[in-house]
Amino acid sequence: MSESCFYCGGTGKEQCIDCNGVGKVDCYDCNGSGKKQCRWCYGDGKVECSSCGGSGHDSDDEECILCYGDGKVDCYDCLGSGNKQCIWCFGFGEIDCSRCNGSGEQDCFYCQGSGLG
Ligand SMILES: [Zn+2]
Ligand SMILES: [Zn+2]
Ligand SMILES: [Zn+2]
Ligand SMILES: [Zn+2]
Ligand SMILES: [Zn+2]
Repeated sequence: MSESCFYCGGTGKEQCIDCNGVGKVDCYDCNGSGKKQCRWCYGDGKVECSSCGGSGHDSDDEECILCYGDGKVDCYDCLGSGNKQCIWCFGFGEIDCSRCNGSGEQDCFYCQGSGLG
């Protein structure tokens, strides 16, 4: 006569240890922030003005009309935010747990998923 597995109560399943049963884990690529530093401006949000080459003045020594004398303009790639959405997690900051494929459960270690003790 076989009895139910004491550890899982006969379900054959236990909580996934990687995600604590949630089914999701922090994205490895962005550490759960959902954002990545922009590669063009290195997170600055600003890049050198292409019109004046960063000097802030044009050839007549007038204030550059593109950057208003700043020498820098908003980064085209991140639109001045310095961050880009993480493409790995689509900005959510978390991805499906690979251990349990997002189910939050794994086969019980003690009964190998059979539910029997
Ligand atoms: Zn079990
Ligand atoms: Zn991510
Ligand atoms: Zn300029
Ligand atoms: Zn940028
Ligand atoms: Zn999991």
